[in-house]
Amino acid sequence: MRSDNLTVLRIPLRLVVLILVVLVSSSQLLGQQLSKQEAAVVHSIDDEAPAVVALLEKIVNINSGTFNPAGVIEVGKVLDREFQDLGFTTRWVPMDTVKRAPSLVAERRGSRGKRVLLVGHMDTVFEPSSPFQKFVRTGDIATGPGTSDMKGGIVVILSALKALKSAGALDEAGITVFITGDEESPGEPWEISRKEFIEAGKKSDAVLSFETGVREQGKDYACTARRGATSWELHVHGKTGHSGGIFSPAMGDGAIFEMSRVLNLFHDTLREPNMTYSPGLMLGGSNIKVQSSGDASVSGKTNIVPGEALAMGDLRVLTPDQLARVKDKMVSIVASGNLPGTKAEITFIDKYPPMAPTPGNTALLAKLNEGNRALGMAEIEALDPMRRGAGDASFVAPFANVLDGLGAIGTGAHAPGETVDLSSLPLQSKRAALLIYHLIQ
Ligand SMILES: [Zn+2]
Repeated sequence: MRSDNLTVLRIPLRLVVLILVVLVSSSQLLGQQLSKQEAAVVHSIDDEAPAVVALLEKIVNINSGTFNPAGVIEVGKVLDREFQDLGFTTRWVPMDTVKRAPSLVAERRGSRGKRVLLVGHMDTVFEPSSPFQKFVRTGDIATGPGTSDMKGGIVVILSALKALKSAGALDEAGITVFITGDEESPGEPWEISRKEFIEAGKKSDAVLSFETGVREQGKDYACTARRGATSWELHVHGKTGHSGGIFSPAMGDGAIFEMSRVLNLFHDTLREPNMTYSPGLMLGGSNIKVQSSGDASVSGKTNIVPGEALAMGDLRVLTPDQLARVKDKMVSIVASGNLPGTKAEITFIDKYPPMAPTPGNTALLAKLNEGNRALGMAEIEALDPMRRGAGDASFVAPFANVLDGLGAIGTGAHAPGETVDLSSLPLQSKRAALLIYHLIQ
C-alpha cells in the first residue's frame, strides 16, 4: 500500500493531466459507441463491399439513358431481384402517358418507428449515342455513366438494407424504396410523373435521397435544402414595318427594345439571396420557332422593325414563398410600362419545387451525425443550397423531413468521365444504415 502511494506521488503532473484527458475522451467515445446490433450492421457492410462494387459494375454497364426506356427497365429488373431477395414487395409504376420508363417501388410494411422513404433514380444523362458507356476501375476510383449519379447511390441503399436485414434490424419496420427512371428529365407534367412518388412522400416521416455525396477538402456534406427550378418564357409582340418608321406613333418601339427594357429591369431589380435567374436563349425579329431540343430559328432584316421577341430562362429559389414573390415581381415588370406599340407577357413552368431548409431536415442531419460520430468520422455539414441543383427529393419535401446527397461520393456528374470513389460506398452505406436503424427504433 505504502509503496503504491509513493509511486502515485512520483508521477509527474503533466502525465496526470495526460491520463485525465485520455480518460475523459474515451468516456466521450463510450457514450457514442455502436451497440452490438449496430456493430453487426457495420461488419456486414464491410463483408459485402466487393459484391457491392460488382453489382455497381453490372448496372453501370447497362445503358439507361432517360430516353432509353428498355435499358432503364433492364436495370430495374436487376434491382427488382435484389429487393425481392431482401424480402421487399416490388411493383412497377407505369409512366407511358408521359413517355418515360416506369419507376420501381420496393416496400416493406411495418409499423415500428418512423416510416422511411429511400429515394434513387436508375436513369442517367448518357444515352446509347454517348461514347461514355462502360465501368472502368482504377484502384479505388471507377469511371462510368451513373457511377455516382446515381447507380452508386442505389447500391449504397441496397447494401445498407441488406446489412440491417442480416442483423435482424428490419423486423416490423415500414420502409419504401422509390427508384424513378426519369429523374434526369422527368416526364411532364410532373403532377402525373411524380404522382405516386408524392403519395409515398405523404405516407413517410423521413425521406433519405441518395444523390451523389459531396466531399471537399476532406469534409463530407449532405443536403438539408435544395433550390427548385422553374422555367419562364417571355413573349413580346410589337408592330412591324420599315425601320425608318420606328418610334413613330404608328409604329411604336418594336419588340426587341421592349424585350431589352424587361430584361434590363430583371437584371437590375430582382436580386436577392439564394436566388438566381438567367435568360438562356433570346430571339427577336419575326417567324420565331423553338424546338424542344433547344434549336431555334428566326427571320429578320436590319431595315425592318421587329414584330416579335422571345426569351426563355430559368429561375431557382429556396422556398415556395420566395418563388411566389419573385414571380409576382417579374409579372409586374413585364406588365407595366410597356414601350409604345408593344405588349409583353411572361409564363412560368415549375419543373422542381424548392426544398426549403426546415428544422426537421436539420434534425435529420443531426441524427445522421450521431451514427457518423459512432463510426469515428468527422461531422457531416449541410451543403450550401446555392451549390446544388434540384432533384426528386424536392417533390416530397413539403410532406416529410428530407436529407439528400447521401449517395456515393464522386465527381463530374453529367459529363463523360464521371467518377465514383469506391471506398465511399461502404462508408455511405454505414452512415445510411445507422440513420435508418435509429429512425425505425
Ligand atoms: Zn441524379
